[in-house]
Amino acid sequence: MFLRRFAAPYKWNIVGSVLFNFLTMFLTVFSFAFIMPILRILFNLDTTSYVWKDWSEGQFQDVLINNFYWFVTQMIGRIGSTATLAVMATALIVATLLKVMAAYMSDYCVIPMRNGVVADIRNQMYSKIVSLPIGFYTHERKGDIMSRLLGDVGEIEASVAASLAGLVKNPIQIIGYLFVMVVLSWKLTVFVFILLPIAGWIMGTVGKKLKAASLDAQNMLGTILSTAEETIGGLKVVKAFNAETHMENVFESETAEYKRLSDSIQRRWTLAHPMSEFLGTIAVAVVLWFGGAIIISGETSIDAPGFIYYMVIFYSIINPAKELTKVGYTIRKGMAALQRVDKILNAENPIKDPEKPVKMPNELKEGGTVLFKNVNFSYDGERYVLQDINLEIKAGQTIALVGQSGSGKSTLVDLIPRFWDVAHGEVWVENNPVGKYTVNDLRSIMGIVNQEPILFNDTIFNNIAFGSPNATMEEVVEAAKIANAYEFIIDTENGFQTMAGDRGSRFSGGQKQRISIARAVLKNPPILILDEATSALDTESERLVQEALERLMKNRTTIVVAHRLSTIVNADLICVMQDGKIVERGTHHELLKHNGVYKHLVEMQSLSEG
Ligand code: ADP
Ligand code: MG
Repeated sequence: MFLRRFAAPYKWNIVGSVLFNFLTMFLTVFSFAFIMPILRILFNLDTTSYVWKDWSEGQFQDVLINNFYWFVTQMIGRIGSTATLAVMATALIVATLLKVMAAYMSDYCVIPMRNGVVADIRNQMYSKIVSLPIGFYTHERKGDIMSRLLGDVGEIEASVAASLAGLVKNPIQIIGYLFVMVVLSWKLTVFVFILLPIAGWIMGTVGKKLKAASLDAQNMLGTILSTAEETIGGLKVVKAFNAETHMENVFESETAEYKRLSDSIQRRWTLAHPMSEFLGTIAVAVVLWFGGAIIISGETSIDAPGFIYYMVIFYSIINPAKELTKVGYTIRKGMAALQRVDKILNAENPIKDPEKPVKMPNELKEGGTVLFKNVNFSYDGERYVLQDINLEIKAGQTIALVGQSGSGKSTLVDLIPRFWDVAHGEVWVENNPVGKYTVNDLRSIMGIVNQEPILFNDTIFNNIAFGSPNATMEEVVEAAKIANAYEFIIDTENGFQTMAGDRGSRFSGGQKQRISIARAVLKNPPILILDEATSALDTESERLVQEALERLMKNRTTIVVAHRLSTIVNADLICVMQDGKIVERGTHHELLKHNGVYKHLVEMQSLSEG
């Protein structure tokens, strides 16, 4: 269960909680014990004259009670009844103060454990999220994972607390109180034992009905949140299409539904309190009646003050008993949440490191080699997106991939850093299949610049130094200069310390792209993959970025996926892709002479740019 799985680092918290719970229980029992002699003696119910007994005379508890009474009668004799009453009341206050402090301390011990478990699970999930391959996220939606990180983890937290309350706090209290009750009057206690489960069952049933509806409300709240998020994200479109009113209507119907659900839930919730108070009072009344009858019949050793003490203890047992009935439900809910979390935590990562990895050569000055041997690849196991790919890329070469969108260019380059594993055939890097290296080693020799540059909401410096944690300021500046990014970066208000904003929102596409190129420059990878790095840009930014890229491509192996053919005329080899196959290959001039698909593509582009 939760505790067994997550509690190990928190064993001292649990020990502390157990100790303080025992202390709380004892202090509760004894703080009310002060009431008995006050009632007995002050109201002259007890006319025995007590004498001090030695601890060896009779049973310990009898002697203790006797001596306590002796002490009280002595005090009354000396300072009078009223003053004694005041002393006893003060003693009650002090004992209660100690009791609530102990109760607080037990919770104090539990809190770091609750929050610690939550943090542990979140961290485990996050490192799992980061480690899982890109392919995982086509099946598991992003929002789903977010709700597991927030909602499900929260439910697990509640369950951890409930497990502790159910296993430690409530049982200790209940057992302690029951013990006192049995000592006071076993007959009454047997009766209570029959009564309590019935009351508990009624309260539990009411509680369950409430919880079911509150789940609906939680789902509805999720819908509301996602509508709000979607609207804020797409606010430009909403405004451009004058769709404010439409979105408002959608949103208002959702909040109306949520209000309707919340109304009925909260009405029932507010009903729960009077209900349980009422049921509790019925229980007390029944015990009162039954206990009173026992006393009147004179059948038992319990007297009126003892009975009042008994009732106080009985009253104290109701709360933990009530809580105990809720624990099961909370734990079950948490288990369900844990299962959903485990689906992520236990998801298998198909991209594994080999058991005996080959070491990546350290010095790849002239770039690395890449080799595709009869590669066939399918995302879903049915439709082949790549077929019979054979391609040899020598160190230092620049290879271009061109072709219509959807022809498999991105898929092909994604196989090199092992974002996916091939089904048939092999991809080799530096004379070994990619699977022979550790994933970390393999990716350490590659730099990737995509069509959509990804920036993080951090400083420009950290965005550039992203894959190179030891980079100095000089190196970062140098990289920015090579990437044609230096000028606009120092024009921002804090230079390299300027925040990039959410996903780099404060920069234009071309600026973002140049920052991400600077990142690749700084990493200085032997193998560079450029997947349509310039196609989202206007002509002017493209010129700047292209310049930066050409500087970057020197002295390394480069695979360029190009949209605009003018950018690749100097490539050592151009591969034309169509429906997952390489249909033509050669240099720019060879392919033009060949008069095939490539020539057709070039003519189309010169027409459109014409
Ligand atoms: P290109 O980069 O040449 O435009 P892609 O390699 O992106 O082409 O896509 C090739 C084919 O694979 C397309 O038909 C596309 O729909 C499909 N595809 C791309 N990514 C995925 C994915 N993650 N899951 C399933 N199919 C995909
Ligand atoms: Mg693509």
